[in-house]
Amino acid sequence: MASYFDEHNCEPTVPEEQYRQNALLELARSLLGGMDIDFGPMDFTDWDHRLPPPASKTVVENLPRVIVTPEQADTALKCPVCLLEFEEGETVRRLPCEHLFHSACILPWLGKTNSCPLCRDELPTDIPEYEEYKQDKVRRQQREHRLEYLHGAMYT
Ligand SMILES: [Zn+2]
Ligand SMILES: [Zn+2]
Repeated sequence: MASYFDEHNCEPTVPEEQYRQNALLELARSLLGGMDIDFGPMDFTDWDHRLPPPASKTVVENLPRVIVTPEQADTALKCPVCLLEFEEGETVRRLPCEHLFHSACILPWLGKTNSCPLCRDELPTDIPEYEEYKQDKVRRQQREHRLEYLHGAMYT
């Protein structure tokens, strides 16, 4: 049987990534079971070590609703959270990363944190501090890449 990743052509890269991804899906599933997860007190200074804040309400409300096509139903496409196959004609929600979920599965999750439980692609949040942190992180990464490039240029 082809795995979800084969079908979606997004092979998880390293075991650690795979582990983190499973951990997120585990969390998303336990939400489904009615277990309310406490992500800890809000501390805006340490985003590196915690799950990002909830997705922006407007963004969540405007997530496209898509109808499962016969083709998708034929490929036994599953909701990554509850692992039930989507049925033809069913209305599901599509995240910007193109992953599909049942509303009942993804909405409680996005009310907790802003990333796709499958690929961790982040949605915008309503929290300015976090948006700033995100931009900062991009800048930090760009700086690191530049340093790596310089290092590479000097030592090769
Ligand atoms: Zn589901
Ligand atoms: Zn995704």
